[in-house]
Amino acid sequence: MIHEGYRHDFQEVSMSPVSPYRHATVIGASIGGLCAARVLSEVVERVTLIDRDRLPAEPVARAGVPQGRHLHYVLARGINALDELFPGLSDELIVAGAPTIDLQSDIHWHFDGHLLRPEPSGVIGLGVSRPLLELAIRSRVEALPGVSITDRCEVTGLMTSPDGLRVTGAYAQNRFDEAAESAIDADLVVDAAGRGTRTPVWLGELGYASAPEERLHSQVIFVSRPYRREPHHLAGHIGEAFSPYPGHQRGGIAVAQEGDRLMVTLASRGGEELQTDTAGMADFADSFSGANVAQVIRTATPLSRPALMRYPSSVRRRYEQLSRFPDGYLVIGDALCSSNPQYAQGMTVAALEAQLLSRLIREGTHDLHPRFFAGTAALLDTPWDLTVSGDLRFPYVEGERTRAMVAAAEYLERYRRAAAKDGVLGTELIRVINMLAEPSRLFEPDLAKRVNGGPAISTVPVSRPGSSDAT
Ligand SMILES: Cc1cc2nc3c(=O)[nH]c(=O)nc-3n(C[C@H](O)[C@H](O)[C@H](O)COP(=O)(O)OP(=O)(O)OC[C@H]3O[C@@H](n4cnc5c(N)ncnc54)[C@H](O)[C@@H]3O)c2cc1C
Repeated sequence: MIHEGYRHDFQEVSMSPVSPYRHATVIGASIGGLCAARVLSEVVERVTLIDRDRLPAEPVARAGVPQGRHLHYVLARGINALDELFPGLSDELIVAGAPTIDLQSDIHWHFDGHLLRPEPSGVIGLGVSRPLLELAIRSRVEALPGVSITDRCEVTGLMTSPDGLRVTGAYAQNRFDEAAESAIDADLVVDAAGRGTRTPVWLGELGYASAPEERLHSQVIFVSRPYRREPHHLAGHIGEAFSPYPGHQRGGIAVAQEGDRLMVTLASRGGEELQTDTAGMADFADSFSGANVAQVIRTATPLSRPALMRYPSSVRRRYEQLSRFPDGYLVIGDALCSSNPQYAQGMTVAALEAQLLSRLIREGTHDLHPRFFAGTAALLDTPWDLTVSGDLRFPYVEGERTRAMVAAAEYLERYRRAAAKDGVLGTELIRVINMLAEPSRLFEPDLAKRVNGGPAISTVPVSRPGSSDAT
């Protein structure tokens, strides 16, 4: 484990005997599904993961996870959680070539156009590609007793008890043989199918009401490309990042990864189209306050074709607010909440949700879905509020801006400006972004005094302070 963070629920659980569940089915074998399968394997006799993709034996991107071709930054809290779920995982990734990164001194962050003072923070990240991370986790899950993974198989619907009150399994279709539809019995089905989740449709077909949804039209477009890393790139730094801010909606990040690679991801906000050719990408990066990323794009050797992905909106589904929901069914990961990737929360949140599931099942399987959705709602509040308040800094994003949010955003602008000179402010900001400290930490008197150069501000927002995004 690389870090300590707040709320170590996973290690504090009491070890109780196995649950009454004999078979669990998990829809989707990506990060959310794999973490769920890992914790279920301890309390359920058999766990079957089903994925519609052919799951590669090599660390390469795949169709069902198109975001895998873009930079995936695991928050320090997420590394912590993944190491708890899969002991030794980060060490294994380091051995595979992923550089360890002090997230304040090794990556040069430009927030609101100011370079965050690069001082050692002790907050350590990993330069690991998304395909390698997923492969390393999948290899461990595959090796767990009682776990099997069926790929090239698409879940097409839910089986239920005659009264529709309990999910009793799932229908699945072999993707290369339309005649081969199977019915898979399960005591528990977990939807980890990502943003394309079919749960809203399936529940509707079963006569359940739709979960209330919160949407934020972030309108972000990403273009990414890996390059061969050479010592002179980024002036020798491991990474460089430019976060967008009101008045400058372009962002970008370049970070070293395993295999002597530099992954470059550019991001526009508000609908600006991005070019995928070298000249267009470099012109875009020319608008950053430093020239290093543009220089990489112009001069480094590309290792694959550029990938473009649109991310129209963040979505949070509030299943905890439904009065009726079938027993034996849960939703996890991006299928539950997908937030603007610029805040890099998705994998961390998925791992934390799996840890929550572990704790709840060990406490008992009674009322599992209301307890799980109440727990995930509480878990998601802070990261979701960071997404909302961060996005609402941009005038084009629609949403209610309360006076408290506006005041907090103004304070944080001053904070980021001050953090260009004050390494302590920088470290605390990095800790909050990486979910190692609560956002309210940034408003505490000792830090407010450093920001204001005077007495501390009187109001401490609990969870609406806005954040800085990575790209
Ligand atoms: C451009 C981009 C960049 C991102 N960057 C970051 C980052 O830096 N840091 C971070 O933490 N997160 C990032 N994310 C979010 C991250 O990718 C997800 O949060 C993470 O993958 C967890 O998602 P998941 O496992 O819930 O779903 P997904 O990763 O979307 O996986 C869903 C899986 O379900 C399978 N599937 C779907 N439907 C079916 C079906 N009917 N039957 C069987 N299988 C099915 C798919 O094949 C896939 O394997 C980014 C997202 C995007 C779009």
